Amino acid sequence: MICLTDVHKHYGSLEVIKGVSAEVAKGEVVCIIGPSGSGKSTLLRCVNGLEAYDGGEIRVSGTRVDRNARSIREIRTRVSMVFQRFNLFSNRTALENVVEGPIHVKREPRAEAQERARALLAKVGLTGKEDAYPRELSGGQQQRVAIARALAMRPDAILFDEPTSALDPELVGDVLRVMRGLAEEGMTMLVVTHEMGFAREVADRVLFLDGGVLVEQGPAADILSRPAHPRTQDFLRRVL
Ligand code: ADP
Ligand code: MG
Repeated sequence: MICLTDVHKHYGSLEVIKGVSAEVAKGEVVCIIGPSGSGKSTLLRCVNGLEAYDGGEIRVSGTRVDRNARSIREIRTRVSMVFQRFNLFSNRTALENVVEGPIHVKREPRAEAQERARALLAKVGLTGKEDAYPRELSGGQQQRVAIARALAMRPDAILFDEPTSALDPELVGDVLRVMRGLAEEGMTMLVVTHEMGFAREVADRVLFLDGGVLVEQGPAADILSRPAHPRTQDFLRRVL
């Protein structure tokens, strides 16, 4: 579903992604772990066309991610992204945030989009919060609105960039529970996370990124319990 082949990315003269090749199959959950500054966010942003990459190739469901407007539009309807800081429209209610994409990007009839948005908000545990503004919701609730918004686009895959890092600890569980539910339903997910418990229990595979290099990848149990590479061992010693 997502296929990266020898992807390179520079910011000016600084190379931040140094030839990464990886795949996410349909229905797979892949977690990306690695130190701060290793290029995790940049890699996700390249996958959905928020950033241009400058070498190699990224394909989503067979379509090459290119910088032309048509390709970007197509990729954005196939791949949704959930950000660390929720990125909701602050002047719109939860329901309005969720229907925005379906109505304006996918041209779905408003009534249909609203009905589906209510169902999606219920799915993420937010029945009764349809008319709340983001400022009236906790961080965990806002992040669940963001997940409902991502689902509303009926994506082939969802990218998550540290979806629980900005949350108070007691709110993390609700968001992870929703993500676990999506994984169980077979959603294809690429998740940058520091939640090693989530990675261990939910991920089919884990990628360890360090300094823009994909140092190691494999089944979650192998990477997290028996990492082969000293850099992975060192990172896990520090975070576990
Ligand atoms: P991570 O998400 O793993 O913490 P990032 O992808 O955010 O890492 O950053 C990777 C590297 O790219 C870092 O060295 C960071 O400083 C640099 N970087 C990220 N965004 C930009 C940008 N817009 N301009 C210049 N450098 C950037
Ligand atoms: Mg990041």
